[in-house]
Amino acid sequence: MECKYCQQKCSKAGTTANTIQRYYCKPCNKYQQLEYDYLGCSKRIESRVVELNNEGCGIRSISRILQISPGKVLSTIKKVSKEIRSVRSPIVMGREYELDEMKTFIKKKNKKYWVVYAIDRLTREVVDFRIIKNRTNKKLKPVIETLLLRGAKKIYTDKLKQYASLIPAHLHVKSRYKINRIERKNLNVRMHLKRLSRKTICFSRSKEMLEACVAIYFFRNQYSC
Ligand SMILES: [Zn+2]
Repeated sequence: MECKYCQQKCSKAGTTANTIQRYYCKPCNKYQQLEYDYLGCSKRIESRVVELNNEGCGIRSISRILQISPGKVLSTIKKVSKEIRSVRSPIVMGREYELDEMKTFIKKKNKKYWVVYAIDRLTREVVDFRIIKNRTNKKLKPVIETLLLRGAKKIYTDKLKQYASLIPAHLHVKSRYKINRIERKNLNVRMHLKRLSRKTICFSRSKEMLEACVAIYFFRNQYSC
């Protein structure tokens, strides 16, 4: 058997209590089996969790559908989102961007958070996002800096007053009607991510998980498994 971590050959190493053959990999110092009864150990589980997360399933429904524990769903989402965010897609310079914020909350309705993100006007792909508590200049700056580093030609935003001081005037277009692409995307995100949909009892308990789920949704095209 090939080791699933280092792809080297493993040697047989006794059996489990259920008489299933176990293998030992010397370089990794790890034991493993060819097949597992528990579906959480299967190789396809990551891509299934990503698919279901992006199709409006919450943690518990993913856990019920795939017959794995909710803890496994959470750890898989965290792992995948970390991988996704470490991948950098090629940067295209001199594009036009739309920038918007989407309101949500963590734990309690009064603990408001914002998903600030920017999309490329042409490809409609998300360029960068941040989850922030208050829409202050300091918190909004990182996303805008990403756009400026990419040599943005124009940045379209709504009339939030903080943007005026952050975006150079010759690049900035303030209009309710010119950000319709990102407004449409907001609707998609609210349809496709359970924790962001309105009037459900599904909501985020931690910023970390909200960030992980949003990252998986926004950057899933960069991920292949
Ligand atoms: Zn190995």
